[in-house]
Amino acid sequence: MERIIFATGNEDKMREIRMILFDLGVPVVSLKEAGISAEIDENGTSFEENAIIKARTVMELTGEAVMADDSGLQIDYLDGAPGIYSARFMGEDTSYDVKNTALLEKLSGVPDEKRTARFACAIACALPDGRILTSYGTMEGRIGYEIKGENGFGYDPIFFLPEYGCTSAEISAEKKNELSHRGKALRSMKVKLEKLLREG
Ligand code: IMP
Repeated sequence: MERIIFATGNEDKMREIRMILFDLGVPVVSLKEAGISAEIDENGTSFEENAIIKARTVMELTGEAVMADDSGLQIDYLDGAPGIYSARFMGEDTSYDVKNTALLEKLSGVPDEKRTARFACAIACALPDGRILTSYGTMEGRIGYEIKGENGFGYDPIFFLPEYGCTSAEISAEKKNELSHRGKALRSMKVKLEKLLREG
């Protein structure tokens, strides 16, 4: 295996991915670096299904090993919404300031114990021989009461981590990788890939 293409156009995610997979032994390149543009219809019903759809589509297009992730925020009080629709919630082009404000409004008056939420991430790796590896990770927290913090992206400024007393937009990138759903799923995928690279 000469390289793995990570099927994302999101540079924030690529930064997290590079920090964790830098010593895999196989370079991991983004779609852009691989010179590929692909419109993929994410029509799965779970994070895992969507990750597999993305990885498999780009693998079939390129004939190379392709990794993809699908992630989002599940708010228990909203029955798991926005969930797999996290990026599409209120429209792809709507700013996260607007999306985060809307979610805070939906939870207005909801007490602490009912504000539980998690970020979840599924990763799939589609190999040219048809094999698919998958991994999963979550980060538990609560929806805060205000938008806070400049780090991270997306819903981080409203995602409160009780054990740290701040949002996931207020912790360092290193700490986020250690705690995050994507970090956990990536490390678990890394173990599976290392085994595959060793054993074929
Ligand atoms: P995906 O690119 O289809 O996986 O969509 C993920 C969406 O979920 C992102 O656009 C964000 O809205 C949200 N999301 C996923 N992971 C995070 C995170 O670590 N912080 C903040 N928002 C996230």
